[in-house]
Amino acid sequence: SDSYYIGVARCDVTGPVVQVNMMGYAHPEQVANGLHTRLYSRAFVVADNQKQNRVAFVSFDGGMASQLLKLEVVKRLKEKHGDIFTERNVVISGTHTHSGPAGFFQFLLFEMTSLGHVEQSTTAFVDGIVESIELANSKLELGRIKIGSGLVDNGNINRSPTSYLLNPEAERARFVHVVTSRDPLGMLSWYPAHPTNMNFTNLLINSDNKGRASTLFEKMMRKPGETLAGKEFVAAFAQANLGDVSPRTNGPNCVGFGPGKDMFDSTDIIARRQLDAAKLVYKSATERLDGPVDWIHQYVDMTQQSVQLDDGSTVTTCKPGMGYSFAAGCTDGAGAFNFVQGMTRGTPFWNTIRDILAKIICTVEPPREYYNCHQPKPVLLPTGYMDKPYDWHPTIVDIQVLRIGQLLIAAVPGEYTTMAGRRLKERLYNEAVIKLACSSGAFQVVLAGLSNVYTHYITTPEEYNAQRYEAASTIFGPHTFQVYQQKYTDLIAPLVAGNKDDVDLGPTPDLKPANQSRIAPVPHPDKLPPGINFGDVISDVNMTYTPGDTVKVTFHGANPRHNMKLGSTYLEIQRDEHGSWTTIYTDADWSTKFTWLETNSSAPPADITIYVIIEWNIPTDETAGSYRVLYHGDHMNEVGTITPFTGMSREFQVS
Ligand code: ZN
Repeated sequence: SDSYYIGVARCDVTGPVVQVNMMGYAHPEQVANGLHTRLYSRAFVVADNQKQNRVAFVSFDGGMASQLLKLEVVKRLKEKHGDIFTERNVVISGTHTHSGPAGFFQFLLFEMTSLGHVEQSTTAFVDGIVESIELANSKLELGRIKIGSGLVDNGNINRSPTSYLLNPEAERARFVHVVTSRDPLGMLSWYPAHPTNMNFTNLLINSDNKGRASTLFEKMMRKPGETLAGKEFVAAFAQANLGDVSPRTNGPNCVGFGPGKDMFDSTDIIARRQLDAAKLVYKSATERLDGPVDWIHQYVDMTQQSVQLDDGSTVTTCKPGMGYSFAAGCTDGAGAFNFVQGMTRGTPFWNTIRDILAKIICTVEPPREYYNCHQPKPVLLPTGYMDKPYDWHPTIVDIQVLRIGQLLIAAVPGEYTTMAGRRLKERLYNEAVIKLACSSGAFQVVLAGLSNVYTHYITTPEEYNAQRYEAASTIFGPHTFQVYQQKYTDLIAPLVAGNKDDVDLGPTPDLKPANQSRIAPVPHPDKLPPGINFGDVISDVNMTYTPGDTVKVTFHGANPRHNMKLGSTYLEIQRDEHGSWTTIYTDADWSTKFTWLETNSSAPPADITIYVIIEWNIPTDETAGSYRVLYHGDHMNEVGTITPFTGMSREFQVS
């Protein structure tokens, strides 16, 4: 008795790997100069056994979903497939890697450090997400979904423990880790941890601990001879309520680090801790999902919502604003100037700067009531009024829940803290199970973080009062969480009763402003010194290596942005297998690194030299034999013609 039609797919969304700011730390100097691991979109499409209703859940290796991404993806799907996929039954959730490209938003604050919009980032994400949903949908087959939960051993740490401890004691012991599976199709898990093991000094595009766990799980499930392009097992380590959760388990303070010897090692360790827990649950899960597939969705303007609290009082949300402690940064990032966490009062100096800026950036200056609304947060950036040259922050958000049998997936537009997430899950659980006395048994509620539209953080009211980094970044004011809790709760009754059409769609957000800033660098024609060809070796490999060594070769190269090589690779590590060269590793593999260096960029174009460095850290269990390194590039001439080329190292031995 198979319960559902299930389809899974994984597509490459890597995007530009050089000249692009990374999304997450908002650090102007964190501009990518190469590639460590490729980024993927992992799509899961589930339909009931009559194919009446279907939902699509996507977890992709990016900083977060943006409203622009979701609207573009849905627009494309509607054009091609009618009403099969809409904004209402598609959830797009980012893993929150801080080492992916930036520039895929329609709001200015998110594109400050990327110098505006980056078309290649957006295109790679949109194309790959659409393709993964379509591919998963084309592969629907009848199957079963099992669910389970488990504990990840030492996989994260709370980075704002002082705010967290303000929450009542009794709420602190639970979390759910859900794995759905049907051998051999796929596995989907939700576990909260910031993918910030790679810190802001990293300049190689990288999917951090979530992506590393996914590729390790997928590799484990791959059958001998099965290639990346074929029908393959898809394992997603999706993001949950990670707001105050750091993966730097050696310390929860502002200089958090660990647990490995360097950031690559730490990423691997935290990935393997998630992997171990997922493997255990995957093998032991017995509970089967059973019941309808459904979804419910509403757009809500968060700037003008109110909610009645338990004591009978009515409270409202505010237009967006960022507090002083936002500028102080947090455990996983870095702050600036004299800002510290926990600031509940502004300073005359910065308030003056703020008010001068507001006169320039806001059509209407923020009134006193606006600042009062955010109390006790001192507002540093009144983003809700900042609309020049276009809007700085979103105001309309998606409130959305998917249902697969007894599993409810609440897609939330930002980073819920541990406790805010638990309270929301508990409320939804109670609403579904207790109030409605459902026949299909106990519901399991998971939170899919960083979904659909990004609105920074969501803390509990207690945490908001402490005004640490997460609270200063809770943009719709002190009652943000209570309003969300009410909005999600209101959708549960119609969802469980199958009355989703009774719910009003709400105000539709705009796709994007026409005057979006585009000053980020774009790739130029490539130059070479006389007598040199693209792909020529500058410094070659050694003749012999032993496992554990790092092979390194440097080529005359070209800007990799001329061809993003989606679904392909910039490099190959090949081994001589009985006289024929066989590709063993690509640029997607953990053991390889692809670095691009442009020298003399201020000199005349003829003097610009572009180096490409390919490194391969030979795994300790690597087979002995003859190897070589290939570099695949594309160069552009003055009239814009792009020509592929290949460079090759000499042959070397691994003994
Ligand atoms: Zn974050």
